[in-house]
Amino acid sequence: IQAAKLAALGRMSAAIVHEVSQPLAAMENTLASTGLLAARGETGAVADKVRAARDLVRRIQRTVKLLKSFARNEPATLETVDLAKAMSVAAELAAPRVASEGVAMTLAPSPRPIRVLANATRLEQVILNLLVNALDAVSGRADAAVTVWCEQDGDAARLFVRDNGPGIPEKLRDRIAEPFFTTKVTGEGLGLGLSISRAILDDFDGRMTFETGANGGCTFCIALPAVEAASRREAAE
Ligand code: ADP
Repeated sequence: IQAAKLAALGRMSAAIVHEVSQPLAAMENTLASTGLLAARGETGAVADKVRAARDLVRRIQRTVKLLKSFARNEPATLETVDLAKAMSVAAELAAPRVASEGVAMTLAPSPRPIRVLANATRLEQVILNLLVNALDAVSGRADAAVTVWCEQDGDAARLFVRDNGPGIPEKLRDRIAEPFFTTKVTGEGLGLGLSISRAILDDFDGRMTFETGANGGCTFCIALPAVEAASRREAAE
């Protein structure tokens, strides 16, 4: 029993490290530029940056709280979430890295709002995980490009993240979403992003799929029932 408890604790700590490290990196960056602005006496801009840093701290707090409820196996409280909004929040969190690595990131807004039943913070986490993986995949390429878009097709809401990295070899297809599976050698990869994402999507009746293009590159897709479809099904149940 003790060994099982320790193993669970290890998995939990790894999950926390994974979900907290991105906002922490963004905060490091924000505080560095706050320092520069303060040295130049630009108090207005400093106030904006401090606000941004507080938002990131709140995000970490929300994440830790969610992980606690995850550990207790509480059902997620579902709310109506604007998919395009979740997409831009996640993109903002990834922005410092996009800028510092010179990646061409394109966010294609959907022509009309797409609403899904989910939990905003958890959905943003899933999208951020996909963005971080895409950024890892294109890292070091001169023509690094990541495109994110969402669309609604009947009852299905879909969000896509496409990169022009190496793609995923056929023999790894079934393994990449296993907990602790990683091909990253830098020690930064815990191999939890996709397994956590899949578990989160399960709570929203969502699915995650991916395709490797003929010329490499990878497109991840998350599909969720659009709000209209979800409420119809609930009514039927
Ligand atoms: P981690 O990012 O910590 O390795 P993940 O669960 O997020 O953990 O991803 C597992 C593995 O899936 C990665 O190590 C990588 O091999 C593969 N992978 C995920 N996304 C992509 C992508 N966009 N392009 C290429 N490989 C990817």
